[in-house]
Amino acid sequence: MAEDTIFAKIARGEISADIVYEDEVCVAFRDINPQAPTHILVIPRDPLSGLTDPATTPETLGHLASVCVRVAHEAGIADDGYRVVVNAGRNGGQSVAHLHFHILGGRAMAWPPG
Ligand code: 5GP
Repeated sequence: MAEDTIFAKIARGEISADIVYEDEVCVAFRDINPQAPTHILVIPRDPLSGLTDPATTPETLGHLASVCVRVAHEAGIADDGYRVVVNAGRNGGQSVAHLHFHILGGRAMAWPPG
């Protein structure tokens, strides 16, 4: 399980966020420092530390991925395409130790990422 991060507090409703979707498993909200015109984070309510947390299940990952598709559609970025990113660990650039999927859209993305 993860430490008590800012995202766990957002999931519990203790810190405000611009929430665009939520269900019993996850919460989606706008990134505070957007890297694209649309930048939304999807997090599990469970305080999983990241992709490699032993408690992170295929069911949770599948649910989060399907919510990314739904949220991207509802945000109006699906037709032009978008990017879903999960940063994992130090080399992956993960700065918050609570599993999160980034949804980035509204502009063309470059490859490779920095
Ligand atoms: P990471 O680098 O861990 O993959 O991504 C963490 C993301 O969380 C960053 O894009 C950062 O801007 C975002 N973030 C950090 N703190 C907050 C916060 O308090 N509220 C919101 N909405 N986003 C945050």
